[in-house]
Amino acid sequence: METIISKHNKKVTNESPTTTPDNTCNCRKKEECPLNNNCLTTSVIYNAHVTTNEDATGKDYIGLTEGTFKKRFTQHKQSFRNQKYANSTELSKYIWELKDKNKDYDIQWTIITSAKAYNNISKRCDLCLTEKLHIMKGNKDSLLNKRSEMISKCRHENKFYLMNNRTLSN
Ligand SMILES: [Zn+2]
Ligand SMILES: [Zn+2]
Repeated sequence: METIISKHNKKVTNESPTTTPDNTCNCRKKEECPLNNNCLTTSVIYNAHVTTNEDATGKDYIGLTEGTFKKRFTQHKQSFRNQKYANSTELSKYIWELKDKNKDYDIQWTIITSAKAYNNISKRCDLCLTEKLHIMKGNKDSLLNKRSEMISKCRHENKFYLMNNRTLSN
């Protein structure tokens, strides 16, 4: 029995990853990960910092996602490529402005903080509250987010109850 355990331990030790584990980043090219190999992080408020040759100070866009950052990032990317989605966010609107002027841009993605979305224990959505707080605190001159986003309703509360109802009816 001891031999089996020690063999098992040895196997586990040998499998300890030398590269980034797939549960924090699933980018095929790890060096191209938008978030330093942490793109699979969930339930976060993130910042997109956009700079151009003529604007080294840059502009900021604050967003949130309940799912993985990677999924939201992919949607943003699509909105920069496909004109159909050009108006989907204030960020994509700005990127298309730059593209129309043939300006090269660079986007730096960072996580501001993580927060929990609505659940029936807390009965509030810290994810939405925290995003609003950061938009409020942000520098008005460089922030792309519109004040009107401050009054947008939380999507996570409805989603929470929809998901639970589905579970009950199954
Ligand atoms: Zn990644
Ligand atoms: Zn919410």
